[in-house]
Amino acid sequence: MSNCSYCGSKIILGGVRSFDLRFCNQKCAQSGALLNVSIHIPDEVVQSKVINIHKGSCPICAGPGPIDVHTSYAIWSAIVVSCWKNTPRISCVSCARKARIEDAIRCFFFGWWGFPNGIIRTPIQLGRNIVGLIKAKTTNPPSAHLEKFVRLSLVSEARRMQNLNTTPPPIPR
Ligand SMILES: [Zn+2]
Ligand SMILES: [Zn+2]
Repeated sequence: MSNCSYCGSKIILGGVRSFDLRFCNQKCAQSGALLNVSIHIPDEVVQSKVINIHKGSCPICAGPGPIDVHTSYAIWSAIVVSCWKNTPRISCVSCARKARIEDAIRCFFFGWWGFPNGIIRTPIQLGRNIVGLIKAKTTNPPSAHLEKFVRLSLVSEARRMQNLNTTPPPIPR
């Protein structure tokens, strides 16, 4: 069973393939679309950023680290439509716990009410939050997932700067 290249979760049902990467669903594939480009960023650049984040304070609660990527799992359903989403976040372990509890509650109340995906996927998403809660631990050294995440954020940042630079100057009146 392979892991999603974006959120790091095991791909249990289906999955989307893009080049040689695999993702849980279209949402993860869209979010991870730049991963193919990100492998070209030099290792030194990525490693120094990874270490900074890992040793830094939590971007959510400003509490102490170590900081890593932690994924929480949500689903909601409405009769025939089900929408599930895996959200990786850079945070400390206690913020990760909080996010998983909130998403587990969301799954429990809003996940089931769709057929067939709500009934099939709600226990999967719930289970993943519960496993995440039990297994949540501080990571030392930083996980490989954090490195991937940093690469991705560097590419999106570069793209954003490029777009800013290529914006045509306003036409003088
Ligand atoms: Zn995923
Ligand atoms: Zn935190």
